[in-house]
Amino acid sequence: MSNSFVLVINSGSSSLKFAVIDSKSGEALVSGLGECFGLPEAVISWKYEGEKTEEAVDAPDNHHQYAINRIVSLMDTLGFTKDLVAVGHRIVHGGEKFTSTVRIDDEVLAEIESLSDLAPLHNPAGAKGIEAAMQAFPRLPQFAVFDTAFHQTMPQKAFTGAISNELYKEYGIRRYGFHGTSHYYVSREAAKMLNKSIDESNFISVHLGNGASVCAIENGKSVDTSMGFTPLAGLMMGTRSGDLDPGVIEFLIKKGWSTEKVFETLNKKSGFLGVSGLTSDARGILEAMAEGHEGAKLAFEVFTYRVAKYIGSYMIPLSHLDAVIFTGGIGENSLDIRREILNNLKLLGFVEDEAGNQAARFGKAGIIAKSGLLGAVAMVIPTNEEFVIAQQSVELL
Ligand code: AMP
Repeated sequence: MSNSFVLVINSGSSSLKFAVIDSKSGEALVSGLGECFGLPEAVISWKYEGEKTEEAVDAPDNHHQYAINRIVSLMDTLGFTKDLVAVGHRIVHGGEKFTSTVRIDDEVLAEIESLSDLAPLHNPAGAKGIEAAMQAFPRLPQFAVFDTAFHQTMPQKAFTGAISNELYKEYGIRRYGFHGTSHYYVSREAAKMLNKSIDESNFISVHLGNGASVCAIENGKSVDTSMGFTPLAGLMMGTRSGDLDPGVIEFLIKKGWSTEKVFETLNKKSGFLGVSGLTSDARGILEAMAEGHEGAKLAFEVFTYRVAKYIGSYMIPLSHLDAVIFTGGIGENSLDIRREILNNLKLLGFVEDEAGNQAARFGKAGIIAKSGLLGAVAMVIPTNEEFVIAQQSVELL
């Protein structure tokens, strides 16, 4: 039987992640990262059969195109070219237009570019990656998988902001939500693990990585999520503030802060980094806390408390709950953070399964707590967005 490999591309403004995924097994055969694009120190590196190779990006400009061309030659050298059946692109914003994965043609590409107003950092970079890949792989069909698409099933009451509806009509200001591919994947995997049909499964999916969001899932569909018009909303994150009284913005501007400085602070200097005054990295927070660092302890407490509050409030849209699912770098690995979140949820009857919590780490799924009161479990499912991108691309072929 012939192989069916998909080249998955996640093109950012100054970086480009790529992987070749076996669309049947989900295995990443090679994965790599181009970073520091636009700077003299731009590099591209990849991991293949456990070995890492790194090279300087040897081009004065258009580092995205250079990286894609380098990937083309890498595919040849590694012998993957003949088995590649598609290129799948992760695109951040699909607006209200894209509710599922689509095959890319000129019209779709133009739509993605026109959504740049809503995602000024991400969509132009995604479009750049698509253009470069279309040139480099003219024989391969290309697909776009949107971070927002899974959340397009949210009811109007969940996506409407409590502001003038004119702002929605004129500018499209509403909740879109992100991390959709991850919430989609872990909910399907959780249903399989619990031997339930996804169409009858209700979950609260908690993606905790550098970015973090919670999603309420009723009968397999997203009905609410914590990120909003932008990924700045909702949970506290590595460097993002999450929810904040908008009055703070006016206050800071009146104190002489520029809009850029305010949003640079909320996007890049808040969250774990801002509260701890130390680091945006959860592992660093846990280590510093163990050594008695007060800021790290406060960051840990604020983070876990806020995640628990979201889980509690996301009971509201659901008719029953099958599981709270933890995923993302923190959700998959930190038993301390999961434990503290569950401790905050005692009123919902969650009791930790200590052995389960110990075991479900470093890529292993498992049940980590149970609630007799809700008839629900808390579980860990390692996410795999690349697998979804590969699978959905092949399904559409
Ligand atoms: P992601 O964005 O999904 O790659 O997640 C990155 C976050 O996961 C960072 O804050 C890491 O510190 C955190 N993380 C990764 N491994 C661990 C671990 N073993 N314990 C705690 N946090 C971890």
